[in-house]
This record gives sequence, C-alpha cells and structure tokens, in this order.
Amino acid sequence: MTIETFTPEETFELGEQLGQKARPGEVYCLDGDLGTGKTVFTQGFAKGLGIEGPVSSPTFTIIQQYDEGRLPLYHFDVYRIGDISEMDEIGYEDCFYGDGVSLIEWSSLIGEILPDQLTQIRIEKDLEKGFDYRKITVEERK
Ligand code: ADP
Ligand code: MG
Repeated sequence: MTIETFTPEETFELGEQLGQKARPGEVYCLDGDLGTGKTVFTQGFAKGLGIEGPVSSPTFTIIQQYDEGRLPLYHFDVYRIGDISEMDEIGYEDCFYGDGVSLIEWSSLIGEILPDQLTQIRIEKDLEKGFDYRKITVEERK
C-alpha cells in the first residue's frame, strides 16, 4: 500500500496504527534518505505499542530496546554500522527471531542478514509536492 503524508504528525499516526497491529516476531524495515521521517514513524510505532517514553534514534549504540509496551521493541539504526559482525555482537538474532518487534532504520545496509519474512517501509520525498510531503510504501514480504 502507498500512503501520502503532508505533515510529520500524519507519518507519526501511520506508525502508531502499524504499532497497534504489530505481532510478536515481526520485523519492520525502514528505508529512505536522511531526514525523510524514519524516526518520526518509529516514534509513532512505539506509541502504538504502548511505549510512552521518549524514542530517539540510537545512532551511537545501533540498538535501543523498550520493554514498557505491549511487546518488546528493538529499535535499530544501522546507519553507522562498520561491519556486519557488529550485528552478531549485538545479538540481533534474538531480536529478529524472538517474541518482540524489530524496527530497523537503514535496513538496506544489512540486507544479507534480514529474514525472508518482513515488512518493508520506504519513505520518499517529492519536493514538487511540498517540503513536508512524503510518499510511504508499505510492503509485506512473506
Ligand atoms: P530520519 O530518521 O529518516 O533521518 P527523522 O524522522 O529524524 O528522519 O526526521 C524527519 C524530519 O522531517 C523531522 O524534522 C520532521 O519534522 C520532518 N518532516 C516534515 N514533513 C514530514 C512528514 N510528512 N513525515 C515525517 N517527517 C516530516
Ligand atoms: Mg532516524
């Protein structure tokens, strides 16, 4: 499906709706250029899971875990990953194949270790449609 948003709040709400529906073991891959709204989407998603605290991009730690929601949330931002072995060190398999929900900003950088079953979310700008316009595609892969 493709959704168009015109404000950060609308992107947040889309994330919130998907967060409300998320099921144990799901992996959500978020891709799009810097500043397109991956973290805004994640913040809505976290709220949808019942996480009330602040959610920011875990850029320097790669992963941030939140346990206060309906399901554990593993928020990855792999933008600064140097080598795929860093994912092993983090213990990513327990996240991807566990009972929580994984959300991965810049997932294309770790394509080789992504599971077959995932939900791919792409966020794109189109400046002709305005500075705050975003086209968001959500594609479930089984
Ligand atoms: P990313 O994580 O993709 O690098 P962020 O979520 O950190 O991006 O930042 C997105 C920025 O774009 C925020 O400053 C947000 O307010 C702004 N923005 C403007 N319009 C939108 C929109 N429609 N959806 C999401 N963010 C938007
Ligand atoms: Mg981000």
